[in-house]
Amino acid sequence: MKILHKGFNYSQDGPGNRLVYHLQGCNFACKWCSNADTIPRDNSESKDIPITEIFDEILRSKMMFFDGGGVTFTGGEATLQADELLALLKMLKAADIHTCIETNASSERFSEFCDVVDYLIVDVKHYDSELHKKWVGKPLDSVLENVAYAFGTGRQIHVRIPVINGVNVNPEGFSDCFSQFNTDNAVFEFLAYHEYGKDKWHGKYQIENGFVSDGVIDEFTHVFGKHGLKTVST
Ligand code: SF4
Repeated sequence: MKILHKGFNYSQDGPGNRLVYHLQGCNFACKWCSNADTIPRDNSESKDIPITEIFDEILRSKMMFFDGGGVTFTGGEATLQADELLALLKMLKAADIHTCIETNASSERFSEFCDVVDYLIVDVKHYDSELHKKWVGKPLDSVLENVAYAFGTGRQIHVRIPVINGVNVNPEGFSDCFSQFNTDNAVFEFLAYHEYGKDKWHGKYQIENGFVSDGVIDEFTHVFGKHGLKTVST
């Protein structure tokens, strides 16, 4: 499995303390991506590591998975390496290790991941198909189909929305979109725009004035609450 980097993180990539693997390659090209070095399918700095080796590393790290922690696979887009990742997730399940993936929910094999992963984080970038394509380079349809599938299974799902001035600051647009589904088992989180990964774009960064105030995030929380959509902050 091609991995660019890994490290421990507490509570922001799933519950508890987690070993987080950033997999190489993404099928989106979000203009604000904070991990732009993970987007190309190949990167001389990423390493191709056998899943048995990763599995052993995770088992060795088990004592660090406190407060309900475990392992998280993100990216890039982790589901692009579906065969390897699904095999590894099954091995981890058998070993009773708590697993999480963070995904853009565009994968044709999304349902297979829903079946095997313990905690599912889905990033939804826009509610409008044309604007989704404009800002991330791919249509919204498959994302919404997969998110609807996950809602329909009744499994727990954590939806994250990056909130970016000039891109998607329209809480009603998002809440109307999600209100068409049964979201009883879903929580929604709003991530205010930041520029921590700007340097990775090597001067090609295109978002200008993307920052939003706390008031904008409060407005998202208020509007979602009005529609009965549960919100969280991690
Ligand atoms: S889906 Fe995630 S990793 Fe891929 S380009 Fe968008 S923000 Fe970056």
